[in-house]
Amino acid sequence: MSEPARPTTRPPALDERFPVPLRGVRVDAATRCAHYDGPRDVVAIRFACCDLYYPCFRCHRATALHSSVPWPRERLREAAVLCGACRRTMSAARYLASDHTCPHCGAAFNPGCAAHHDRYFA
Ligand SMILES: [Zn+2]
Ligand SMILES: [Zn+2]
Ligand SMILES: [Zn+2]
Repeated sequence: MSEPARPTTRPPALDERFPVPLRGVRVDAATRCAHYDGPRDVVAIRFACCDLYYPCFRCHRATALHSSVPWPRERLREAAVLCGACRRTMSAARYLASDHTCPHCGAAFNPGCAAHHDRYFA
Protein backbone atom coordinates (compact mmCIF):
# COMPACT_ATOMS: atom_id res chain seq x y z
CA MET A 1 0.00 0.00 0.00
CA SER A 2 1.67 3.21 -1.11
CA GLU A 3 1.36 6.45 0.78
CA PRO A 4 -1.04 8.78 -0.98
CA ALA A 5 0.27 12.17 -2.03
CA ARG A 6 -0.34 14.62 0.74
CA PRO A 7 -0.68 17.99 -0.96
CA THR A 8 -3.05 19.47 1.56
CA THR A 9 -2.26 20.57 5.05
CA ARG A 10 -5.20 20.77 7.35
CA PRO A 11 -5.19 22.74 10.54
CA PRO A 12 -3.75 22.46 13.07
CA ALA A 13 -1.15 20.26 11.39
CA LEU A 14 2.00 21.95 10.21
CA ASP A 15 3.89 21.04 7.09
CA GLU A 16 7.06 19.12 7.74
CA ARG A 17 8.52 19.84 4.33
CA PHE A 18 9.53 23.32 5.35
CA PRO A 19 12.07 24.63 7.88
CA VAL A 20 9.52 27.03 9.37
CA PRO A 21 6.02 26.44 10.78
CA LEU A 22 3.81 26.73 7.71
CA ARG A 23 0.30 25.81 6.70
CA GLY A 24 -2.17 26.52 3.95
CA VAL A 25 -4.56 25.02 1.47
CA ARG A 26 -3.13 22.54 -1.07
CA VAL A 27 0.42 23.72 -0.51
CA ASP A 28 2.91 22.32 -2.99
CA ALA A 29 6.61 21.70 -2.42
CA ALA A 30 7.47 25.28 -3.41
CA THR A 31 4.73 26.90 -1.23
CA ARG A 32 2.29 27.49 -4.06
CA CYS A 33 -1.28 27.09 -2.81
CA ALA A 34 -4.84 26.62 -3.91
CA HIS A 35 -5.20 30.37 -4.43
CA TYR A 36 -1.89 31.33 -6.04
CA ASP A 37 -0.23 28.60 -8.03
CA GLY A 38 1.60 30.37 -10.84
CA PRO A 39 5.23 29.60 -11.60
CA ARG A 40 6.40 32.58 -9.53
CA ASP A 41 4.07 32.15 -6.55
CA VAL A 42 6.85 30.66 -4.45
CA VAL A 43 6.89 32.68 -1.25
CA ALA A 44 5.26 32.10 2.10
CA ILE A 45 4.83 34.95 4.53
CA ARG A 46 4.91 34.97 8.31
CA PHE A 47 1.91 36.38 10.13
CA ALA A 48 2.42 38.09 13.47
CA CYS A 49 -0.96 37.02 14.89
CA CYS A 50 -0.14 33.32 15.08
CA ASP A 51 3.56 33.33 14.19
CA LEU A 52 3.04 30.89 11.31
CA TYR A 53 3.96 31.13 7.65
CA TYR A 54 1.22 30.95 4.99
CA PRO A 55 1.46 30.97 1.20
CA CYS A 56 -1.13 33.76 1.10
CA PHE A 57 -3.69 35.66 3.17
CA ARG A 58 -6.48 33.47 1.83
CA CYS A 59 -4.70 30.42 3.22
CA HIS A 60 -4.63 32.22 6.57
CA ARG A 61 -8.34 32.95 6.29
CA ALA A 62 -9.09 29.33 5.45
CA THR A 63 -7.03 27.74 8.21
CA ALA A 64 -6.95 30.22 11.12
CA LEU A 65 -9.86 31.14 13.34
CA HIS A 66 -8.84 34.77 13.72
CA SER A 67 -8.25 37.82 11.57
CA SER A 68 -4.80 38.11 10.07
CA VAL A 69 -2.39 40.69 11.42
CA PRO A 70 0.25 41.98 9.00
CA TRP A 71 3.91 41.75 9.90
CA PRO A 72 4.73 44.82 12.02
CA ARG A 73 6.97 47.55 10.70
CA GLU A 74 9.20 47.44 13.79
CA ARG A 75 10.07 43.82 13.06
CA LEU A 76 11.09 44.28 9.41
CA ARG A 77 14.60 42.98 10.14
CA GLU A 78 13.33 39.62 11.41
CA ALA A 79 12.87 36.60 9.16
CA ALA A 80 9.35 36.84 7.79
CA VAL A 81 9.38 35.47 4.24
CA LEU A 82 10.21 31.94 3.07
CA CYS A 83 11.36 31.30 -0.50
CA GLY A 84 9.63 28.12 -1.63
CA ALA A 85 12.27 27.49 -4.28
CA CYS A 86 15.28 27.25 -1.92
CA ARG A 87 13.36 27.08 1.39
CA ARG A 88 15.47 29.77 3.00
CA THR A 89 14.06 32.71 4.89
CA MET A 90 14.69 36.40 4.51
CA SER A 91 13.68 39.44 6.49
CA ALA A 92 10.63 41.40 5.46
CA ALA A 93 12.92 44.33 4.63
CA ARG A 94 15.04 42.16 2.36
CA TYR A 95 11.99 40.73 0.63
CA LEU A 96 10.50 44.15 0.05
CA ALA A 97 13.81 45.36 -1.42
CA SER A 98 14.37 42.17 -3.44
CA ASP A 99 12.95 43.43 -6.73
CA HIS A 100 10.90 40.21 -6.98
CA THR A 101 13.94 37.93 -6.93
CA CYS A 102 15.07 35.64 -4.13
CA PRO A 103 18.32 37.06 -2.69
CA HIS A 104 19.51 33.50 -1.96
CA CYS A 105 18.72 31.47 -5.08
CA GLY A 106 17.57 33.99 -7.68
CA ALA A 107 14.08 32.52 -8.03
CA ALA A 108 11.61 34.95 -9.56
CA PHE A 109 8.78 36.07 -7.30
CA ASN A 110 5.40 37.20 -8.53
CA PRO A 111 5.50 41.00 -8.84
CA GLY A 112 1.69 40.97 -8.62
CA CYS A 113 2.03 40.25 -4.91
CA ALA A 114 3.01 43.86 -4.40
CA ALA A 115 -0.62 44.76 -5.06
CA HIS A 116 -1.55 43.36 -1.67
CA HIS A 117 1.53 43.99 0.42
CA ASP A 118 -0.63 45.84 2.92
CA ARG A 119 -2.22 42.53 3.87
CA TYR A 120 1.19 41.18 4.82
CA PHE A 121 3.34 44.09 5.95
CA ALA A 122 2.17 46.92 8.17
ZN1 LIG B 1 -2.80 34.40 12.30
ZN1 LIG C 1 -3.35 30.49 -0.45
ZN1 LIG D 1 15.23 31.20 -2.92
